[in-house]
Amino acid sequence: MRLPLSTAAAENLRVLPETGSTNDVLVAEASAGPVADFSVVVTGNQTAGRGRLGRVWVAPAGASLAVSVLLRPVLPAGQPLEIAHFGWLPLIAGVAMTRAVQSLVPAHRVGLKWPNDVQIDGLKVSGLLAELLPGGDAVVLGAGLNLSLTRDQLPTPVSTSLALSGATLQGDELADAALSSYLTNLRALYTDFVRLGADPVASGVAEQLDELCTTIGQQVKVELPGAPDLLGAAVGIDAAGRLRVRRLSDGAVTAVAAGDVTHLRYE
Ligand code: ATP
Repeated sequence: MRLPLSTAAAENLRVLPETGSTNDVLVAEASAGPVADFSVVVTGNQTAGRGRLGRVWVAPAGASLAVSVLLRPVLPAGQPLEIAHFGWLPLIAGVAMTRAVQSLVPAHRVGLKWPNDVQIDGLKVSGLLAELLPGGDAVVLGAGLNLSLTRDQLPTPVSTSLALSGATLQGDELADAALSSYLTNLRALYTDFVRLGADPVASGVAEQLDELCTTIGQQVKVELPGAPDLLGAAVGIDAAGRLRVRRLSDGAVTAVAAGDVTHLRYE
């Protein structure tokens, strides 16, 4: 994979020919010593990709991109981000990946299924995995992106790849364009979010999410561990990045955190 990235996006970026999981590389490095904010690890051959809750992320060699970014936000006054605000970082990554995918398949409807799936016409093309590091001051955000998986390589009927969706670029050019766009978007959104004191409204992140998140307005079934399924209408996202759901049974609005959700289905 060649990577003609802009300097801003390429700082602290390493391309590995093969690795188990790009998230694991950064998590291990961070447990061994300090890792700079916005360190990036990329591979086109991720052999043991993970989803949430121990699920598998399918990534055939050469057909998929895996990219992980370590974020260690420090607010302008010098203090670390409050834990409640960390919920916004995976959503910021979701917005960045949604924009990147949009730019590669502009004729399609591209949206973010809260909290961590990017979809093309309702089919999953990218999944994001956020792992908060011990100490609670940094997060590793992993993204898997289906570049050129064929129908036979896709793990579920509700998934797709950029190539199957008619992306005009191919091979290394597609990987480079996707990576460059994702990192450039992520860098810009993250920098503004932190500079503006982790305020999702002032930084424009909330507005972009309203535009791109296809979950808002849907009837949803949210599976929660050790609790009954939550059935209702997704009505928005709260100040901590949690999904607000108006319960069908009694009209009460509850907020669910990404980390607590086993599955979210549209009804
Ligand atoms: P789900 O997609 O089942 O609602 P989720 O959105 O939380 O769950 P993750 O746990 O983040 O998904 O990702 C793993 C899931 O994604 C797997 O269970 C599988 O259904 C799906 N998956 C795995 N590999 C791919 C891929 N390359 N493309 C699309 N979907 C994939």
